[in-house]
Amino acid sequence: MLLRKAIVSVRHVRCVRGLSSRASNILGALDIPNSYEIPGVYDGRWKGSGETLESVCPTTGEVLARVRSATPDELREALEKSKDAHIILRKVPAPIRGEILRQIREALAAKSDVLGALVSLEMGKIKTEGVGEVQEFVDICDYAVGLSRMMNGRVVASERPGHTILEVPNPLGVVGVLTAFNFPVAVYGWNFSLSFAAGNANVWKPSPSTPLCSIAVTKIIAQVLEKNGIPGAASALVSGGKDVGEALVGSPDIPLVSFTGSEAVGRVVGKAVQSRFGKTILELGGNNASIVMPDADLSMAVPAVFFGAVGTAGQRCTSTRRLYLHRDIASRFLDALQKLYALLRVGDPLVEGTLLGPLHTRAAVGTYAEAVRQLREHGARILTGGQIYEQVELRQGNFVQPTIAIPKHVDPADAIWSTETFAPILNVAIFDELEQAIAWNNGVPQGLSSSLWTQNMRNIGKWIGPEGSDTGIVNVGTSGAEIGAAFGGNKSTGWGRESGGDAWKQYVRWSACTINFSDAAPLAQGVDFST
Ligand code: NAD
Repeated sequence: MLLRKAIVSVRHVRCVRGLSSRASNILGALDIPNSYEIPGVYDGRWKGSGETLESVCPTTGEVLARVRSATPDELREALEKSKDAHIILRKVPAPIRGEILRQIREALAAKSDVLGALVSLEMGKIKTEGVGEVQEFVDICDYAVGLSRMMNGRVVASERPGHTILEVPNPLGVVGVLTAFNFPVAVYGWNFSLSFAAGNANVWKPSPSTPLCSIAVTKIIAQVLEKNGIPGAASALVSGGKDVGEALVGSPDIPLVSFTGSEAVGRVVGKAVQSRFGKTILELGGNNASIVMPDADLSMAVPAVFFGAVGTAGQRCTSTRRLYLHRDIASRFLDALQKLYALLRVGDPLVEGTLLGPLHTRAAVGTYAEAVRQLREHGARILTGGQIYEQVELRQGNFVQPTIAIPKHVDPADAIWSTETFAPILNVAIFDELEQAIAWNNGVPQGLSSSLWTQNMRNIGKWIGPEGSDTGIVNVGTSGAEIGAAFGGNKSTGWGRESGGDAWKQYVRWSACTINFSDAAPLAQGVDFST
């Protein structure tokens, strides 16, 4: 007996890793074990025996955890469990599902500070943005609670006497949610809340580089589900990389795949789901422009562009990547903008007051350096930035200087203008007429977000009308959407919509149900098929 105890305790020592207190305090507060490897699959039970994913802190390079991903068998099992969970969930009245979402909202809000810190730790965005991301999940839960009493169908007038047509929404079944690294909490929140309110079970495949955020969120949701007698697989988690993603996308058990990520992967995912006649919501890359007119209030426009271009170190799908300045204010605007760039506080995103954290990966630093090299090679003027930070205290992390460049040519078809580089690089051009700026705004493949700074009602009318911006989001700044409005982009951004507006309608199957209360069965359109 004594010997057995000793073996257990040796094993225990081997399995626990030394972590910085910076990391272990956050992980501990979220019940994430500090063992050598942790399970990254949840279907009512935690498991995972597939390949190991490493969660690396982008600020310090510390390995935060090793997470075991899903094997093909574990994925199949999770899908089966989710199908079973759906069969239970679909019988639960929608307002009761709303009540469960309200409890999830409370559980998230109670952990919002530490969960926001985990987003900062693992993804690299500054803490106020990390906490803001959790707040988005809380907000969309609130929205979905209300929605759970308002997911209305319609009664349609029938042309046949004694007939009524009902348009009825019913749940789809199991929804697959694949997410990107840059919003490792909120994007699942947008999907899960609406989809659960609609009566679906959900299987989440998060980014392989942010597994801890997804584990922490899944634990919070699972506790509430279990307390309410709903199987945990109503919100299953399958950590993994491309293979797990492909298997999920290819599964005929998943009628709707909601994919958030790059245009390149979205193109593959979209085709794969279409080939089996599944439904998709595609939320892909953005290449967003701000246009500043001569009558704009620069005291508002300059800080908005600063946040749009530099916030989240340029790693928002809605980051401002293109800036079109009217000739009359261009030099004043750029002077003021450069002054703000000079004030940037760079460093640990968990430290209060930091405005610029690291890029998420080393590979992203390479992408940034290559984009700057291309700009230089093609004769662009680099007004500020263009380098990797070399200070000793930043060297362990992926820190790059936010860059403002004036490319030599303004051609939206040129790769410099038409490619989404996921880093803080802002390309600037000068225009004389609003129409020219709108043409540049619309001239790229992506269509996510855009903004116009003006105080002139006629400019605004043009901008939001058929001759205006062709993007899905026409904002005050390009970044900072609210959950109440449908979020998503057009063209190569994928045409998907999530969050508010009518987005919930995608998470249901619609049936047009004709009810015949009469004592005859006439055909529509007066068709006579009598013998
Ligand atoms: P990514 O495309 O590399 O990965 C996204 C997800 O797809 C990950 O979970 C990944 O593991 C998975 N994946 C990779 N290959 C796959 C395959 N063949 N089949 C199925 N799944 C596969 O994107 P990323 O680098 O994590 O995120 C950044 C991108 O996401 C940017 O382009 C950004 O604009 C975009 N994004 C868009 C929105 C939006 O709402 N429009 C929001 C956030 C991020």
